[in-house]
Amino acid sequence: MKKLENLEKFALENYVPIIRKDNIEYLEKIIKENKLYNILELGSAIGYSAIRMALVDKNVRITTIERDFTMVNLARKNIEDFGLENQINLIHEDIFNIKTTDKFDLIFIDAAKAQYIKFFNKFKNNLKDNGVIISDNLELLDLQKLTQSKRSKRLVEKMNEYKEFLNSLEDYKSEYLEIGDGFAITKKVL
Ligand code: MG
Repeated sequence: MKKLENLEKFALENYVPIIRKDNIEYLEKIIKENKLYNILELGSAIGYSAIRMALVDKNVRITTIERDFTMVNLARKNIEDFGLENQINLIHEDIFNIKTTDKFDLIFIDAAKAQYIKFFNKFKNNLKDNGVIISDNLELLDLQKLTQSKRSKRLVEKMNEYKEFLNSLEDYKSEYLEIGDGFAITKKVL
């Protein structure tokens, strides 16, 4: 079986952003404690976070969506190497083309950073009443360290708009965790 460290090394060497240590450990913990076994992940990259989440419990089922062809191929191979094809359903598609009525315990938003509001609105009805939507990279720390370009400033603005959007929702409550690159934890107000 392939080791997680190999994936981490690959990501580092090939400049593929993967979830930070604190963030994935938080996800693993809440999946385990709350039995959040039905998971939708937006943005698979090389499959690292899906693999880590699937390894929490054999009952975990993940649908993960990625539009980048190169990433999908890497993710598919990694998922196979870990023998997790039965737990992880990898879909090569643009997220906005996905139509599903499935309900999830956890929706993990980790795809195009400028599109978070749209992702949230597209999938909010796929969240179970006691489920949670977690959004990654709220702080965009890595990006800001890397570049002060117009694009990165625009993404920071977009992420601030996303926070304002979350805070404006009356039927959802969000909290922000300053771990890793920042997490937003959003739950329905029941
Ligand atoms: Mg991320």
